[in-house]
Amino acid sequence: MTILKFYGGIGEVGGNKILLKDQDTEILLDFGKNFERERQYYDAPYLEPREERHLLALGILPPIEGLYKKGEGLRDTAGILLSHPHIDHMDYIRYIKDEIPIYCGETTKTIIVTREFTGRTSSSDYYIANLTAQRGEKIFKDFRTFRTGDVVKIGSIEIEPIHVDHSVPGAYGFIIRTSGGTIVYTGDFRLHGTEADMSFQFIEKAKASKPDALIIEGTNVGEGKVSSEQEVRDKTMEIIVQTKALVIASFSPVDIDRLRTFYEVAKANRRKLALSTKQAYLIEALEEDKGLSIFNLSDPNILIFARQKRKPQTWEKRLLESYPNVVESAALSQAQDEIILSATFYDMNEMCDIRPEAGTVFILSQSEPFNEEMEIDFKKLLNWMEYYGIPLYNIHASGHAAPLELKETISQIAPKKVYLIHTERPKLYQQFIRDLNIKTLCPEPAQEYQI
Ligand SMILES: [Zn+2]
Ligand SMILES: [Zn+2]
Repeated sequence: MTILKFYGGIGEVGGNKILLKDQDTEILLDFGKNFERERQYYDAPYLEPREERHLLALGILPPIEGLYKKGEGLRDTAGILLSHPHIDHMDYIRYIKDEIPIYCGETTKTIIVTREFTGRTSSSDYYIANLTAQRGEKIFKDFRTFRTGDVVKIGSIEIEPIHVDHSVPGAYGFIIRTSGGTIVYTGDFRLHGTEADMSFQFIEKAKASKPDALIIEGTNVGEGKVSSEQEVRDKTMEIIVQTKALVIASFSPVDIDRLRTFYEVAKANRRKLALSTKQAYLIEALEEDKGLSIFNLSDPNILIFARQKRKPQTWEKRLLESYPNVVESAALSQAQDEIILSATFYDMNEMCDIRPEAGTVFILSQSEPFNEEMEIDFKKLLNWMEYYGIPLYNIHASGHAAPLELKETISQIAPKKVYLIHTERPKLYQQFIRDLNIKTLCPEPAQEYQI
C-alpha cells in the first residue's frame, strides 16, 4: 500500500511537507517553513519560535513522532527529498534529527549551506550549517546530492529528479516510482523563464511515465501574470536609460536569473552593478557550478558594496579582502549615475550615507506576496521612499506558471488523479480544470490518501 499525507501547502502557498509511505519505506517531500502561519503568531526578530515544541504546539510543525531533534526515539524515515532551496520548501529541516538524510540537487545544497553561513544566526541547536573563525565550515546535515539523469533509490522507492525552471537555480520536479504506482511531483515551476525548456523536458518525461498521481503547485492559478525575464529586461532598460541618478534594484538574493538580468542591463548602460556581500558570497560559491554560467566576481562591471559595519563577520572580512572592486558608501555616493545598487528594504539605513541624489529610482523586482525568501513590509518600504524622495517601479516576472499553463501541464501529463497544493485557491483550481475529466483532490491536512 502506498500512502500520501499532506501537512502543508494546503489552501496556502508554500510550507510544503508531504509524507510518502510505500511498504516499509517512508520519505518526506519538501519540509518548508510556513511563513503565513508563523506570521499569525510571531514577529521576528523580537518573537520567534525558539524550539520545535513551540511550532508543534501551534500545529505548524506536523506531529510526526521520532522526527524532531528534541523528541524521543529516531523515526525510521529514509530521507527528506527537497525540490529546491526556497525557504518555504526546506527551512524546517533544521528541526529534524541530523541523522535523517537530506536528498537534494547539488545547487540546492550550495544555496542552502551558503545562506546558513551568511545568515542571521538562529539557535545553535538548529544549525543546518555554520561558519566560524575557529571551526571553519561545518555542515550538520547528511546531504546526499543528485543531478538530472540520476536515479535515486530509497528503500522501495525510486526517484527520478528532472530539472525545472523556477526563480531559483537548481529546482527539480520528481517522477517517483513506488510499489503502488507512479507519482509525479512538480515542486515549483514556470514555463515563461529563461530556461523554460527544462520545464518542458520535465513535462515530457512526466507524461511518458503515465503517472497514477500528480501533485502540482498552483501559486498563480487565481491570477495570471503574462510576463517573462526578457520583458523584465526590456522594462528595466527603459527605466535606466531615462534615469540620471542612482538606480536601486531590489530582488530575491537567490534569484540568479534576475541578478543576471540586472548585470546585463547595467553593462548595456555603462553602469556597474554593486552587489551586497551576501550576494557576492553566494556567487563565489556558485562559480564552480558550470551549468549556471554566472559572471565572475572580478568582472569589471561588478562592485562589492561594503556596508558600514563595526565588526564584519569572518566570511565577510575574507571576501572584502580578496577582491579589489570593493566600494564603500562614500565612493558610491560620488558615482551615483554610474551604478545600479542591489539593495533591499533592509539597506534603508545605509541610504543615509549614500544620500541618493534627486532623480534616484527604486526598482522592486520581487512580488511574490507570501515571500519565498524574505518578508518585506511594503508600507514601511513606501515610508522610506517618501523620506528619500524616491519613486518605486515594480518590474517582475513570477517564478510560477500562469493559470492556462497549469491547466495545459495537467492535461499533458494526464495523470489518473491530481492533488492541488501550494495555492490559496484550491477550489477555483479544481473548477478551472474540471473539463479535463481527471479526478482532482484538494487534500485535507494529515489525512491519508492512497495513490
Ligand atoms: Zn514554493
Ligand atoms: Zn519556490
